[in-house]
Amino acid sequence: MWSGFFFDGVTAEAKPVQVSLTPATLEVSGLAPGQPASWNLSSLQLVARGNARMDLATGDHPQVRLRVDGADFADALKAAAPELWRPQWRRTGRIVGGLLAGAAVLVAALFYLPRVMVPLISASYAERIGAGVAAQVTTLFGGACNMLAGQAALEELAYGLADEAGLDHPIVIHVVDSRVVNALAAPGGHILVFDGLIQKANSPSEVAGVLAHEIGHVKYKHSLTSLSRSIGAQFILTSMMGGSFGDTSSVLLTTSFGRAAEAEADETAIRILNARGISSEPFAQFFDRLAKGDARTGSDKDDAATEQSNWLKMGNLLSTHPPSPERAALVREKGLVEGTSPMSDSEWRDLKAICETEDDVF
Ligand SMILES: [Zn+2]
Repeated sequence: MWSGFFFDGVTAEAKPVQVSLTPATLEVSGLAPGQPASWNLSSLQLVARGNARMDLATGDHPQVRLRVDGADFADALKAAAPELWRPQWRRTGRIVGGLLAGAAVLVAALFYLPRVMVPLISASYAERIGAGVAAQVTTLFGGACNMLAGQAALEELAYGLADEAGLDHPIVIHVVDSRVVNALAAPGGHILVFDGLIQKANSPSEVAGVLAHEIGHVKYKHSLTSLSRSIGAQFILTSMMGGSFGDTSSVLLTTSFGRAAEAEADETAIRILNARGISSEPFAQFFDRLAKGDARTGSDKDDAATEQSNWLKMGNLLSTHPPSPERAALVREKGLVEGTSPMSDSEWRDLKAICETEDDVF
């Protein structure tokens, strides 16, 4: 027990008090009710130190001061709260370290958030989000194509592949009347295939490969994971309030699902193509051809650019699916080299003509 003086920060009075130390606190007795009697050592600050005299403050009550005289008090306090004697920059360093640790926790939370959140999103809710994305992207890119024969051929192919994937809900296939070469998996099993991709494909197996890949994304709900990671709470709130799907669509058009998700979708694609006896090789070559075509001539790009200049950069399959040696290697290691065509010649012709509606005649 030591003697000292308490300054309340309001009056000039130096109130005599008794001071004692516990392992975690500095206890002050002799105070009026309501004055801080227990000071946490962790929030203690050394305001001034003279010859065996210490003026202390506490972060819990910034206005008050405590003055204690005596070398033995200084020694006892030094033993109980050694960081008071550390240079200020080291304490600041600890605070900065604490902030960095806090930021790391936040980043980890954002990273793990989708794992917690995505399984909680109901199928009907995901369906609604997916339908909203499909409607918006279709409108932005020039409308839907739905020539019946082509749609039937594409759906027969897609439903057969989806059966192999073992999805717990049906898929919905939309064809977008755009020359942009793209396909995307929106939430709730909505898959959008752009006519540019159908026109660019050399064979039904190439289209099957892309569809199988998108079905892989559907199976693992990669779009929901990507959305909750990219726009997190905003995505949830906007969607729940039935608001605009603008951010949702642009995220799905511009953001890669990430290397791990793409590998997962590729593995699913190869597995279901194998089960259907369809070669995966054309799927791999399709990406290689797109990459080379983009580098060699700008003609396709220019066509599309005049049509959808703002959306071109977002809407390219290559922007979210860069071809990589790992992808090609996986396909060649696990996929069938030879396979049967998943469509008849007439079905293939119907699919190629899926956007030739009467509107296009004008
Ligand atoms: Zn993908």
